[in-house]
Amino acid sequence: MSDKTIFKRIIDREIPATIIYEDDQCLAFKDIDPKAPVHVLVIPKKEIPSVSHLETADAALMGHLWSVIPRLANDLGLEGGYRVVVNCGRDAGQAVDHLHFHLLGGRKMTWPPG
Ligand code: 5GP
Repeated sequence: MSDKTIFKRIIDREIPATIIYEDDQCLAFKDIDPKAPVHVLVIPKKEIPSVSHLETADAALMGHLWSVIPRLANDLGLEGGYRVVVNCGRDAGQAVDHLHFHLLGGRKMTWPPG
């Protein structure tokens, strides 16, 4: 049994996913259980378990991800707006221990989140 996370297995092409963007540092693919008409997960290829595990050396990588996210939102037609969510830890509902940004859009969002 592999001890890789499900997202590492997607990066390594061991399990399928609908990949919509890839470069040397990150991958974006459709969430398997979408919570909005557009629900994409943007992940670094580097294995970082959560926001709490980020180090100063990851600053450029995070900057890169934040440059990719609005480009994807634009390409996905989310002119009306979108939400980027990062769950960190069990209380926040993080289920996969590989840092990921949920890009959600295509419907009106409510606030506060549940
Ligand atoms: P979290 O709850 O950790 O913030 O989000 C994990 C997300 O990963 C969930 O939205 C869940 O639907 C998604 N997910 C879990 N397993 C898979 C999978 O095998 N493939 C894809 N595409 N998404 C997954």
